[in-house]
Amino acid sequence: MFSNMVTDCGFLGSSKNYEESKILIIGVPMDYTVSFRPGTRFAYKRIKDVFNLLEDYSPFLNRSLNDKKYYDVGELDLPYGNIYKSFEKIRECTKTVLQDGKKPIFIGGEHLISAPIIREFYEFYRDELVVLHFDAHADLREEYMGENYSHASVMRRVLDFMKPENLYQFGIRSGTKEEFEWAQRNTNFYPFEVVYPLCSIIDDIRNRPIYITLDIDVVDPSCAPGTGTPEFGGISSKEILETIYILKDLNVVGMDIVEVSPPYDLSDMTSILAAKIIRESILSFL
Ligand code: MN
Ligand code: MN
Repeated sequence: MFSNMVTDCGFLGSSKNYEESKILIIGVPMDYTVSFRPGTRFAYKRIKDVFNLLEDYSPFLNRSLNDKKYYDVGELDLPYGNIYKSFEKIRECTKTVLQDGKKPIFIGGEHLISAPIIREFYEFYRDELVVLHFDAHADLREEYMGENYSHASVMRRVLDFMKPENLYQFGIRSGTKEEFEWAQRNTNFYPFEVVYPLCSIIDDIRNRPIYITLDIDVVDPSCAPGTGTPEFGGISSKEILETIYILKDLNVVGMDIVEVSPPYDLSDMTSILAAKIIRESILSFL
């Protein structure tokens, strides 16, 4: 009854109809294991606020959000502090999404949320699945401060079930010597750079289902300061968008964008960048 009196609180241009929407936006406000600065649980709400300031049209892609059907699911209701119960909820949600034939964009939260999500994608696609991991950190530690489940070990947990040759890592520039040596031996490991190595492997992954896990700290802190473990020497905002464009029309079946931490942001820079990455991802490959 108030439809002409209130502004739409969902994501800009999102559909109110789940059935007709191929793409879903889902907030996962989990930030229990971050090592340095928590706060990523606030990312979904802040990114949503600033998303609504964007244009619906992407000049680069010459596509508009008005031509896409996507649905804002909202945030998962997680039992704070309980990693295992949170994992169960995240897996249950991901399973439903896959059974319903949807393509989800998960907004973290800390990077650890990707482990249960990718687990369900792997159950669904098995060894066909390719994971593209963009991050300043390799996240391959067997444990971090005695804990096997940490945002610093998320990709190692993924490799508990997935073959390392199906993991591609880009932009990594921080970690232990052991982590770097292990990555060089086991995964498709492309430290420091993103655009050039991605172009070089694109034909190898063209016909496979692709899951993208994007830790915002792959971008230089000068463009994305609002994150828990900023790491200088990263790629520019222009390069991360180029990354999205290189993947245009590939078979991306889902993605997450994690580690945006609004309490550490400056003038919403990081949330606005994340919002633009989400818009361009919807228009480029989802
Ligand atoms: Mn990182
Ligand atoms: Mn990470």
